[in-house]
Amino acid sequence: MIDLYALTPRSLVEGLRRRLKKSLGQNFLIDENITRTIATQVDRLHPGHILEIGPGAGALTLALSSLQRPITVIEKDDDCARYVERIFSENVANFNVIHGDALNAPLPDFCSQSDARTVLASNLPYNVASQIYFRFIDEDLPLAGMVLMFQREVALRFIAKPATSAYGLLSVLGQYYHDIDVVTDVDPHAFVPAPKVTSTVLAFVPRKRELDKDDEPAFRAFVRAAFSLRRKTLTNSLAGFAQKSKSEWQTLISELGFEPSCRAESLSKADFIRIFKAIH
Ligand code: SAM
Repeated sequence: MIDLYALTPRSLVEGLRRRLKKSLGQNFLIDENITRTIATQVDRLHPGHILEIGPGAGALTLALSSLQRPITVIEKDDDCARYVERIFSENVANFNVIHGDALNAPLPDFCSQSDARTVLASNLPYNVASQIYFRFIDEDLPLAGMVLMFQREVALRFIAKPATSAYGLLSVLGQYYHDIDVVTDVDPHAFVPAPKVTSTVLAFVPRKRELDKDDEPAFRAFVRAAFSLRRKTLTNSLAGFAQKSKSEWQTLISELGFEPSCRAESLSKADFIRIFKAIH
């Protein structure tokens, strides 16, 4: 038996004894204050189950295990998956490892059950962080919430306001699906190896949505199309979308009271919803 209480994020990383893989975004947390802060945020969402993506050497898993809830982790790296399995499966009740890619591995059934109160927690691999977020909104899983760490620059996109440089697809869709709070910034020295940039932890709570569930895939496609050509006018980006030519889009946008030369970056989430409702 391993004494979990004797472990620290640093001892877990040292115990892994191998070179970390940059290609998998392996910057491992060694700061216990940060892992505890994330676990506290997860706890605030009253989790029934916890799903963690990319446990690595288990630093965050260790903090999450103190919440005494079933934990399932998804890890792509063979050595890490085996390592966390060895450390945690004997010592944490209901601990499961899915050895696979969080972008496409089948998710456990409890993720699809709203009464399971699944909370997703992750220090996300930076190279696929937004794709993993999109997987969860595309699959429209009834999660109770998510506590996720991103590179600060990506986190700022989630909370950006219209007409700012960080505003885009992540802002509109992120703010459509979730109320998003900044939990804390995380200094590079909280990790080994230290990344070049600051990271930020965000807490996501599902919000009441303005559109019917059945219309949401088309709404996501619409917002994606609107931001597909950055720095172009909205009607240039949307030309051909929903079987409408550029001039048809210009007419429609003008009728709704927008400048025909406006750009997607200037439209609020409410504006996107209004235009979408007009075509849908
Ligand atoms: N949770 C650990 C921590 O905070 O110290 C490690 C976080 S590290 C930033 C990201 C982890 O995600 C690594 O363990 C990496 O192997 C794993 N990973 C990378 N891409 C993945 C993917 N597509 N699916 C699942 N895990 C992935």
